[in-house]
Amino acid sequence: MIPKKSLIEIQSDLGSGEYSMSELMTSYLELAHEHKSLNIYIEVYEDEALAEAKRLDEKMKNGGKLGTLYGCVVSVKDVISHKDHGLSAASKILEGYTSPYNATAIERLLAEDAIIIGRTNCDEFGMGSANENSIYGPTKNGVDTERVPGGSSGAAAVSVQMNTCLIALGSDTGGSVRQPASFCGVYGLKPSYGRISRYGLIAYASSFDQIGILGHNPDDIGIVLEITAGKDPLDATSSSHVAAPYNKKDFKSNPKIAYFPSLIEHEKLDESIKENVLHTINQLRLAGASVIAKDFEFADYLVPTYYVLTTAEASTNLSRYDGVRYGHRSLSSDSLEDMYVNSRTEGFGKEVKRRIMLGTYVLSEGYFDAYFTKAQQVRNLITEEMSKVLEDCDFLILPTSTTLPWKIGEMAEDPVSVYLSDIYTVLANLTGLPAISIPSGTNVEGLPFGIQLMSKKYSEYDLLSIAKSLKLTTAT
Ligand code: GLN
Repeated sequence: MIPKKSLIEIQSDLGSGEYSMSELMTSYLELAHEHKSLNIYIEVYEDEALAEAKRLDEKMKNGGKLGTLYGCVVSVKDVISHKDHGLSAASKILEGYTSPYNATAIERLLAEDAIIIGRTNCDEFGMGSANENSIYGPTKNGVDTERVPGGSSGAAAVSVQMNTCLIALGSDTGGSVRQPASFCGVYGLKPSYGRISRYGLIAYASSFDQIGILGHNPDDIGIVLEITAGKDPLDATSSSHVAAPYNKKDFKSNPKIAYFPSLIEHEKLDESIKENVLHTINQLRLAGASVIAKDFEFADYLVPTYYVLTTAEASTNLSRYDGVRYGHRSLSSDSLEDMYVNSRTEGFGKEVKRRIMLGTYVLSEGYFDAYFTKAQQVRNLITEEMSKVLEDCDFLILPTSTTLPWKIGEMAEDPVSVYLSDIYTVLANLTGLPAISIPSGTNVEGLPFGIQLMSKKYSEYDLLSIAKSLKLTTAT
């Protein structure tokens, strides 16, 4: 088995003939097979991935020009379109659906010789924090198989954790890349809103959604970000802010970092995570950073604002699944109206239905101003507040999640507590800012947790470079 390595190391090994792309792919496939019981992959594209590896081996032998992502094996969350491959958002409503085109992110990865190993399990339509809301059943955390890997990109995180691939593409609407990264002890980046085209990403809440990247180290994520980022004529909300070549630099020596005592003192925060954040703040100070306490009055509004707005957007986005255009259609209907109702009743899971109802409620005529408009106003206030904080400071430091990975099934009857555990991650999506979860050790039982850093819009490379230097100083 080939051990965990960075993309640069892999490329150098491939170049020196240490192993071939086919051997590397075989090693990932063997690990994917060995960890089958974790329920990471909905499908592994074994034959196709091996054929592609062989093609690249030939190309290399013949002196052909290899792409920037040669040697990069990627898993793709089941919400991102990959031409001629199944796509279901882990939902029965998309049963049997095949993507007719590639998402722009996929198109760009493939053009640089990355290979896709398979599609990963997730929460249905990205709704959840534990990868338990899936028609394929829960994914297990490789650190402790009785526990969840986080969600909604839980299996994406486990695919990296178990070294079945180098990089996982996930999506992050309110923390779905960072929180599983934290639960599984890997790195997870949510880029700025608009940084990576959403074309081909199944919509959950369009003004929050962003494709995110999970990996073993910041440099691999940086290289993949550089390739996938940038303006896309197929997504009007994609940013034209140019993604310069990834520079792998360490961050300037004395960053100014803000923290919010109102969030770190939050009653829901697990004690061991809190201790670790405080320890990290100390370490940062010792290393020469100025870490500054800032007031933040919005702690109690983050989760409610997020859930009002995202359920509203979800309820309209999901109206396209009517039994006519895609996937599942109920066969037991006497009229057109019945067919719509039955297809949706049979096709959507419990959590998705809950959110459609919430979203429809906050958008209904009598409540629109009280909930939806109000939440939009609060979102603007939070965004203004964050730009003030980040005008003065380079970064904001936060925990990633309030909790450690919980036991599978433990939270099934308590969706509101699960929603509340999103308090630290939704801030980046409400404001469109980039954020990264960095593995930051484990508690006494060996359960991993991450710390989170946010920064100014489009400064993902700063996040990655500080993540590199932080790795040396955090508690284990
Ligand atoms: N846990 C959050 C939710 O359930 C985040 C989901 C996401 O980022 N897709 O909405």
